[in-house]
Amino acid sequence: MRIKFLAVIFFLASLPAFVSYAPAQELGPQYTKIKDGIYVYAGVLNEANSTIILTQEGVVLIDTGQRPKDSHIVAAAIKKLTSQPVRFIIHTEPHSDHILGDFVFSPPAIVIAHNGATESVKQSASFTPERIEKEMSASAEMRSAFKGFRLVTPHIEYRDKMTLNVGERTFELYYLKNVHSEADTAIWLPKERVLFTAASVGVKRFGNHRPFVSIPDTLSAIRMMRALNPEAVIPGHGVPGSVKILDDMERYYDRLMEGVGAMVKAGKSLDEIKKELKIPGTEDWEGKDRFPNNIEAAYRGVTGK
Ligand SMILES: [Zn+2]
Repeated sequence: MRIKFLAVIFFLASLPAFVSYAPAQELGPQYTKIKDGIYVYAGVLNEANSTIILTQEGVVLIDTGQRPKDSHIVAAAIKKLTSQPVRFIIHTEPHSDHILGDFVFSPPAIVIAHNGATESVKQSASFTPERIEKEMSASAEMRSAFKGFRLVTPHIEYRDKMTLNVGERTFELYYLKNVHSEADTAIWLPKERVLFTAASVGVKRFGNHRPFVSIPDTLSAIRMMRALNPEAVIPGHGVPGSVKILDDMERYYDRLMEGVGAMVKAGKSLDEIKKELKIPGTEDWEGKDRFPNNIEAAYRGVTGK
């Protein structure tokens, strides 16, 4: 008896520390099963992720997909998994590729985002009636996906930190300042050790940084998330993985800040830095045309202007 017990302990201890992701066969190849009851959907690689999280008290969704067509696909998958409704939608950011399909689930779902999300939606050119009409008229398929469309803005806007308990699961929401949009939220499931990073990090991909984005703030956000020691990391866009996603991005931003810092010290202009700076390890990254924009963001961080 005792030997058997020890053998089990030894077996458990010898399991590899990394998480391997079997595809969620029952839902289709566009889904990745992260853990029991947690499924990430992306229609096409690097489109916005939408995650289904089942609980004993209903479904929690993290973002609702790139466009309404995707939200309907996610809604159909949920019906296969459970008879329970979507109770909460948590937004990682207020851009249209994460929230446009909210109307498919809300009402009755309650939408939660960081303070500033509603204002960001109101100010954005992506949600004007003309823009929506243009998207709808792209194809008969799009028009049918937009059936019943209404713009949903968050019912709850939290500040800095929030805890949501649904069934057996706990969701800790953390505001990420100046990383991508006006209202970015990281979501941490402490029991499952699953982290949603929002668009603070990409996977082998350069981000497009708006003028208010700060690389020093982004580095602080990455270090805060890294300290949680997650087992699984799900970025706003891109294939889910491990802490390596955070480590790769931290290394890139550190090198970018160091490189730009050294060149500024040597008296180089922003244009010269854009021409000369190379960051080893990013040769195979996607979105190279956004690298000059990354240099501008680092330049603001180094010079304060
Ligand atoms: Zn965005």
